[in-house]
This record gives sequence, structure tokens and C-alpha cells, in this order.
Amino acid sequence: MPVLEVFLTAELFLFKSFREYSTFLNKKALKTLLNLPKIDSFRTMHQANASFFKHPELIQLFDRYATYNGSDPYKAPATLNIIQHVEYGIGGFTLKGGIYSLSRAMTDVALKLGVEILTNHPVDEIVLACNNVHGVCCRGKVIDDPNRVIGVRCGEKVIEADIVVSNSDVTNTYKKLLNDSQVAPARKYYKTEPSSSALVFYWGVQGEYPQLKMHNVIFSDDYKKEFTEIFDKGEVPDDPTIYIYISSKYNPTDAVENGENWFVMINMPPGKEETALDIQSIKEKIIEKVNKTLDIDLNKKIIFERVLTPQMIEEKTSSVFGSLYGISSNNRFAAFLRQDNRSKEYNGLYFCGGSAHSGGEIPLVILSGKIVSDLISKYEV
Ligand SMILES: Cc1cc2nc3c(=O)[nH]c(=O)nc-3n(C[C@H](O)[C@H](O)[C@H](O)COP(=O)(O)OP(=O)(O)OC[C@H]3O[C@@H](n4cnc5c(N)ncnc54)[C@H](O)[C@@H]3O)c2cc1C
Repeated sequence: MPVLEVFLTAELFLFKSFREYSTFLNKKALKTLLNLPKIDSFRTMHQANASFFKHPELIQLFDRYATYNGSDPYKAPATLNIIQHVEYGIGGFTLKGGIYSLSRAMTDVALKLGVEILTNHPVDEIVLACNNVHGVCCRGKVIDDPNRVIGVRCGEKVIEADIVVSNSDVTNTYKKLLNDSQVAPARKYYKTEPSSSALVFYWGVQGEYPQLKMHNVIFSDDYKKEFTEIFDKGEVPDDPTIYIYISSKYNPTDAVENGENWFVMINMPPGKEETALDIQSIKEKIIEKVNKTLDIDLNKKIIFERVLTPQMIEEKTSSVFGSLYGISSNNRFAAFLRQDNRSKEYNGLYFCGGSAHSGGEIPLVILSGKIVSDLISKYEV
């Protein structure tokens, strides 16, 4: 994948808001628009990979990158093949102390800047001037715009604010926090296809397994069937691809001595209720496949277990349907369907996070925060 392509797409699709004229009216954007055929959006990732590689397993390996944003390689545009380039061509990085150290570092910066952080304050409502029971006044200022946000309500407590940035799922923000599922972007967003969810087993495993590395994937035999089951039939895949991440390979103190910490994940259809899942039989299927592939007997080696289901993901994060990455990229227009970072309907309301532009995954979520901060500087300061 030529490097030019990465920069063409990143500049236009990831770093800026789509709804700002300035995003398109500049030399770099013009260059991208003139080079649109190069971003390969008219064929699917699978079609492109099948043209690049001959061996079916290589094609399957590269098709897997569609799942990095919860999509189906047989439907998602080949533009997303830039993900492989970023991973192999530029390289992956890991954080000392794991991904949590990123939130710690951002918290430290925020505190140094004088930000007051309130945790354990679930927001029940984004308060608008028109429905403020305390009168149309915010922080001593009279507000004459009924659609202006003036703060948030947590239980009985109203916290006044000139600007509200919602990092909660877009559908959840409209439906529950604004009580407005009929507003145009909410209706549009609700009709889009969600990205995939996941079922995760966190296992403490006795012994060490040199045949495994930090990242491991045990593929299904029929990849097309697996994605049809997930996205078209809404079923748990019969023969799931299994991802095993073992951080103790890199950082031994993450696990007990003579043990490993396995994060075992399979892709799941979004929206599967826990009652519709036979977790025990899925677990047995996974163990059987791991045993067969590695020639081991895992059954008596699992000394610790936690499970994360799609329903739990929704409950913990508010991500509707337990989707990992907001909407899927299963059509070439998906990038344009995501919620804009600045609300047109509610003044002073901004969106960031996995379901807003520029999409799910930690790097993009952080970029969405950067886009919002740029927009706030432009419109509110
Ligand atoms: C099992 C799993 C594996 C993943 N693997 C990867 C990976 O390898 N690489 C990668 O880049 N991404 C991965 N992701 C995706 C990544 O975690 C998400 O895209 C990202 O966390 C989304 O960020 P966010 O800030 O939008 O949402 P979240 O990280 O879910 O944060 C939203 C926060 O807002 C809080 N919240 C929601 N509503 C309210 C409310 N009303 N009041 C107060 N607080 C509220 C939630 O409690 C939550 O803490 C994975 C996700 C899962 C579940």
C-alpha cells in the first residue's frame, strides 16, 4: 500500500471534521479528491487482498484487519487496507504499563491544567435551556437560545456548563440523555449497521506455552461463513476465529509465576442478549480448538476466569448493542454516516468517542477528542 494513500486518507478522513468547509477547501484535500481512485473504495477488502495474494491463508490473514473496526472484509471497502500498512509498514507500539497508562497520562495533564475530574457521576440528562427547570440562565448568563446546552444533570444535581462534550454512544446520547430519538441525526444513525461485538474470556492459565506469542490468532476454516453468521444471520459463529493476547509474554509480572494471562476473544454479532448465549458450550468449543491446534490440554489449567459478553459491554460503556467500534464500515459511505463532532441541532453540544467521527478504536477515539477541541477553539472561544 503506497504511503501516499495513507496520508491522503488520514488527512481527510481522520484528522478533521467532515462538516467544515475548510476540511475540503485546501491543497491537501484537493490532492486527495483528485486521487480518489487510489483510495480503492470501489472494491471490498477481500477483493483487493485476493488480487494482491495467491495463498488463501495470506488472503485470510489480511482480510482479518476489517475486524479492527468491527467490519466484514467481504463488504468493507478496500480503503481500509491501510490498517495493515500502518501495522506492518509503520509498526505497532506498546505502552509501558498497558493501555491504562494512556488514561493515566491524560489525567495527569488534565489535572496539571486545572481540570476538575468527577468520577462516579453518571449523567442522566444533557440539560437544554428550553427545559431547564431553574430558568434560562447558565453560570449567571441569560440564555436566549432554547436549543443551547446549559449543563448536565447527575441524579438531582445539575452541573452548569457552557459546552457539553458527550463521549457516550451517539444513540444513547440522543435517546437517553437528550430524550430525543426523533431528531434527524438520531434517526439516521439508528438505521446504520452497528459494528461487531465480542465475547471475551479472561483466563489465568497455569504453565507456560512457548508455542504462543503475545498476539495469536487461530483462524476459522471458512472465513466467509463466519462473517455471514455474524453480520447477516446475527448468530454466534459456529467455528469462530480465536484471538489470544498474552501480555505476560512481554511483561511477566502481569501473571503469577509459572502462569500466563490469556485474553481470549471471539467476534460476536452486535446486540446478542446474554440469555441467548450458551457461554459454556462456546467456551468448550474454544478450548477444544485451542487444544487441537496447540496439542495441549487446557481444561485443568484454567485457574481464574472472568467473562465479558456483548450485553455487559453495553451495560459498562453504554455502547448500544455492545458494538466495539460504533457503526460498522460495511459500506463505502460509512465514514460519512458517523455523527458529526459538532451538533447542528443543539448549540454547544459536541460528540467524541467511538460512535462519532472519526470512528472506533483507541487511536481514532483520541483523534475525535482532538477534532472536538479544535472545533471548540473555533466556535466557542
Ligand atoms: C473487548 C474489547 C477489545 C477491544 N480491542 C481493541 C483494540 O485492540 N484496539 C483498539 O484500538 N480498540 C479496541 N477496542 C475498542 C475500544 O475499546 C473502543 O473503540 C474505545 O474504547 C471507545 O472509546 P470511547 O471513549 O468512545 O468509549 P469507552 O471507552 O466505552 O468510554 C466511554 C465512557 O463513558 C462512560 N459513560 C457512558 N455513558 C455515560 C453517562 N451517561 N454518564 C457518565 N459516564 C458515561 C462509560 O462508562 C465509559 O467509561 C476493544 C473494545 C473491547 C470491548
